[in-house]
Amino acid sequence: MFHSFRLGSEFVELFVGMGASKVRDLFKQAKEKAPCIVFIDEIDAIGGKRNASGMGGNDEREQTLNQLLTEMDGFEGNSGVIILAATNRPENLDPALLRPGRFDRRVPVELPDLKGREDILKVHAKKVRTEAGIDYNMIARMASGASGAELANIINEAALKAVREHRKVVTQKDLEESIEVVFAGYQKKNAILSDEEKKTVSYHEVGHALVAALQTHSAPVQKITIIPRTSGALGYTMQVEEGNHYLYTKEELENRIATFTGGRAAEEVVFGKITTGASNDIEQATKIARAMITQYGMSDDFDMVAMESINNKYLGGDASLACSDTTAASIDAKVIELVRKQHEKAKQLLEDNREALDRIANYLYQKETITGEEFMDILDHPEKYAQNNEPPVLDAEIVE
Ligand code: ZN
Repeated sequence: MFHSFRLGSEFVELFVGMGASKVRDLFKQAKEKAPCIVFIDEIDAIGGKRNASGMGGNDEREQTLNQLLTEMDGFEGNSGVIILAATNRPENLDPALLRPGRFDRRVPVELPDLKGREDILKVHAKKVRTEAGIDYNMIARMASGASGAELANIINEAALKAVREHRKVVTQKDLEESIEVVFAGYQKKNAILSDEEKKTVSYHEVGHALVAALQTHSAPVQKITIIPRTSGALGYTMQVEEGNHYLYTKEELENRIATFTGGRAAEEVVFGKITTGASNDIEQATKIARAMITQYGMSDDFDMVAMESINNKYLGGDASLACSDTTAASIDAKVIELVRKQHEKAKQLLEDNREALDRIANYLYQKETITGEEFMDILDHPEKYAQNNEPPVLDAEIVE
């Protein structure tokens, strides 16, 4: 079987007619070598909507696309040539390409689920030497939300680490650490946080985890660390994902908002002042709150009316409002109200559990990295940690 891998952009030529003749040539070869598959990657380079600008479009590209359409129509059902194309921008394709008889099937490729991540990791791991008994399911769970490319990168980073340390095989630990490298960047060894900053980051990260734990009564994190990363993150909390989760209840979403506000809430409760460390949390909390009101029908006033439509599900999804200015203003007010309520809840939870907050933040400050199990252990068994007689590093008096 013959495979032709082409990039859509390879057909776009400087001179009018060249692209079209390349297309003709490709299909001629394909028919000669049938049965075969022709794969065109990034087909939007030639298959984009024609004349979108309205002004004398790109003649060359248009001719190339026309030639492609002609070739696709020219196939007999049994000619044994299958055309496969990929794009990240399905909404930009020329409608003619999507008509029945041209591309018959559309296969959306979403981010891999837990099983998918595990399988992808195993495929890439075949290219490197690993120690026996690697728990890929565990790595897949830790890498929740990773794309195929990121998973490949995790294996690659782990291999690099093994090589740097003059080892012959990649270990479970290498893989776990490279997840953080891929998501948060390398550890920034020479970053010097002031003591005050280190305390603030400890409380901030524990604030997230504690609010999550108090709401769900289960271990909320794999790991919390306050070692700065090259990505600019000062602390990092790795969430636990137990299997796949496709449906969220209103309560779960509210809890997630509260968890995002937990970092800032801890700063307020403990230090009585706020820092810039919460910008990503603010973004995430707002996103969920907005979606609850405009997409998931979770506010009483709007019932099941969609206020927003998502333009491109596959590339981050830009949402556009489909409502009057008055409604838009009222949506804004509701988003604020929703986040504020959860923020208040988070602050209350931390105030009510101030002793646990201090204890865990203190421990994190000293160790710099704690696991989810340690976190729960400190939360559930205060007596064990009170006994270890280390002088309390965090003096509540420093805090204003
Ligand atoms: Zn945070």
